Amino acid sequence: MYGLSSDDLELQDRARQLADELIPYEVEAELAGGHLPEELRAKHKQLASDRGLVATNIAVELGGHGCSMLQQVLVQEQAGRVTNALGWVMATPPAWWAQVATDFQRERWLLPTVRGEMSECYAITEENAGSDVAGLAATSRRDGDEYVIDGEKWHVTSYNEAAYVFVQAVLTDGPHAGEHAMFVVDLPTPGMRVVRTPAYSHSIGHEHPIVAFEGVRVPATHRVGAEGEGMVFAQEWFRFERLMVAARCVGAADRLLTEASAFAATRIIGETPLANRQLVQAMLADSLTELFAARSMLYETARGVGEGLDRKVQHARCSMAKLYASEMAGRVADRAVQVFGGRGYMRENVAERFYRELRVERIWEGASELQRVIVADQLAKRGVPALA
Ligand SMILES: Cc1cc2nc3c(=O)[nH]c(=O)nc-3n(C[C@H](O)[C@H](O)[C@H](O)COP(=O)(O)OP(=O)(O)OC[C@H]3O[C@@H](n4cnc5c(N)ncnc54)[C@H](O)[C@@H]3O)c2cc1C
Repeated sequence: MYGLSSDDLELQDRARQLADELIPYEVEAELAGGHLPEELRAKHKQLASDRGLVATNIAVELGGHGCSMLQQVLVQEQAGRVTNALGWVMATPPAWWAQVATDFQRERWLLPTVRGEMSECYAITEENAGSDVAGLAATSRRDGDEYVIDGEKWHVTSYNEAAYVFVQAVLTDGPHAGEHAMFVVDLPTPGMRVVRTPAYSHSIGHEHPIVAFEGVRVPATHRVGAEGEGMVFAQEWFRFERLMVAARCVGAADRLLTEASAFAATRIIGETPLANRQLVQAMLADSLTELFAARSMLYETARGVGEGLDRKVQHARCSMAKLYASEMAGRVADRAVQVFGGRGYMRENVAERFYRELRVERIWEGASELQRVIVADQLAKRGVPALA
């Protein structure tokens, strides 16, 4: 099905097996605020690394697995079957960086990240700039061989796990004043302060604090690419991550439907299985239909990206995949809660956890409204045949 090669199927199977081994730890993580004991987390990370499921997106020359875009999607789909972000151990280091990293940056951060020895986080969003990244207020001022960064960043995911953070800020001086630059900042660096760590709907071990940068000094060697290129990297990252969000949503919907239909087959109400009730059948049938549509779109989009489609077409297709898969998964989770009834409202139930966890998929990496704006813009510029 889907024209997957034997290599694709073997990798998919390896990822599925790891996901199946992580699933039994979900409830323990859920009831502990998302946190598993450190030695267990280390073991899970090691399993992912040993089985070739980390850095699938990185070239072999850099120590990664050089997987095709479709194969990367197949792995992330399996990661998405697991709640509480336990599947995130199948990590994808910043592939976009490999093309522009200096030798210094490669040795110091990128290669250790690919080897799984350290991880990164991203500080782009601010209190008054989320969807509109162009509206950032954080500044970076050149001072001799250094830059001085000031500002406050919101929702910095995995800050508590990361060894370094990518920070995007507006240049105050020089020929690129007013444009953006991207910097790598080691954690911790003097001048950085966690303002607070809010609680979010999901229970995952990765925190999302608000972080203040107060006169943070970084050597100029920590700048990624050239001055003024900050937005370019953000766009590269968004395109990749939107496809991976779509993959994880497809995986989540698959798990939800598998579990909800198994429950419906065995739950007897009025001497007949729930699965015989037509109103329940409708919920399951709609979910299956939408899952099939989302997966078909996801794989086709991944193939197109892998084959080097026009950048703008890739961008629009990744937006369509993210938009459709994230909204589809939300609907499937809602129906799954309904099929499970009261059990679906218990935190020990997969549908309850996904019902909360999947909500953010429609917000981060560009909210659904922004994806629609991108898709409509490309439709106006290129027409239907180029896009669908
Ligand atoms: C759990 C979590 C983790 C996150 N992790 C990170 C991270 O690691 N690093 C990081 O930098 N950011 C992170 N984010 C931030 C995330 O990317 C933003 O929340 C997202 O881009 C939306 O921005 P916003 O919250 O400022 O909403 P806003 O931009 O204020 O938007 C509010 C609403 O208005 C809508 N809207 C905005 N503009 C338009 C428009 N032009 N037309 C129609 N509707 C519009 C939006 O779709 C949304 O529904 C995270 C967010 C969450 C919730």
